[in-house]
Amino acid sequence: MICVDNFLTGSRENIRHLQKDPRFSLYCHDVSERIRIRGEVHSIFHFASPASPVDYLKYPIKTLKVGSLGTHNSLGLAKAKRARFVLASTSEVYGDPAVHPQKEDYWGHVNPIGPRGVYDEAKRFAEALSLAYYRTHQIDVKIGRIFNTYGPRMRAHDGRVIPNFIDQALKGEPLTVYGKGKQTRSYGYIDDLVRGYVLLWRSKYTGPFNLGNPAEYDILELARVIIELTGSKSKLVYEALPVDDPKRRCPDIRRAKKYLGWSPRVNLRGGLKRTIKDFTSRLQRRSR
Ligand code: UDP
Repeated sequence: MICVDNFLTGSRENIRHLQKDPRFSLYCHDVSERIRIRGEVHSIFHFASPASPVDYLKYPIKTLKVGSLGTHNSLGLAKAKRARFVLASTSEVYGDPAVHPQKEDYWGHVNPIGPRGVYDEAKRFAEALSLAYYRTHQIDVKIGRIFNTYGPRMRAHDGRVIPNFIDQALKGEPLTVYGKGKQTRSYGYIDDLVRGYVLLWRSKYTGPFNLGNPAEYDILELARVIIELTGSKSKLVYEALPVDDPKRRCPDIRRAKKYLGWSPRVNLRGGLKRTIKDFTSRLQRRSR
């Protein structure tokens, strides 16, 4: 297994335990540049991209490049090696959706020139290019659309709502609610997401498939659950709503259920407990 990463937003710490494994090797590289790999490649999982809005607003051009040039290079590699190609796409292809819940055949409501457009349009292009390689070069493409995934090993300063709230709650700092906190999201635990991708990879389908947990919560509800589970005394502080922040988001997962036999098993409280445990132990290690 070859891991290709330039660690723009990732962390070497997260793969340290894998580096002892002789089957694992690390190629420190930006996939927006040509990818050179010797020998056979059976499958490519193209998951490279900043994914937190804070990161893609900080790196707008790199985000556009990795979704376009990075996808082109990865598909070129898939073509040269006749490899299966699995794409990490996103619920952001639906933008601020006008249809609820979102089904895969909904085309979305994206502002191409707004600040979030750099991520949304890069992923939409990545899907279009993958399908073009599937149709033109018969590459075995598989597309999953990820909905607000979370879990252990996220950076405390990732910027996304769950790591932000957990970090703030554990430190007794106020939880930063953007806008009125009435916007909704549907949070998928990492283990469920990985299992969904493995089923998709092994399947005969191209998709796209929504991979998310349809249990929908607004931001205030999420803040309350995190305060309760951490036993924190944190209060809430209200900050400006980011531009084009989607008002509602919830996956329709009937397609993944029917064709992949997949549905999530970990509910929000269960997933948050495991994530809080990991954040707590990392915080304790840092303060030692
Ligand atoms: N959010 C918030 N406080 C934070 C971070 C995010 O209220 O500290 C809100 C954000 O405005 C959005 C939702 O939480 O409505 C999810 O944001 P996130 O950055 O996790 O991902 P998004 O779904 O926007 O890509």
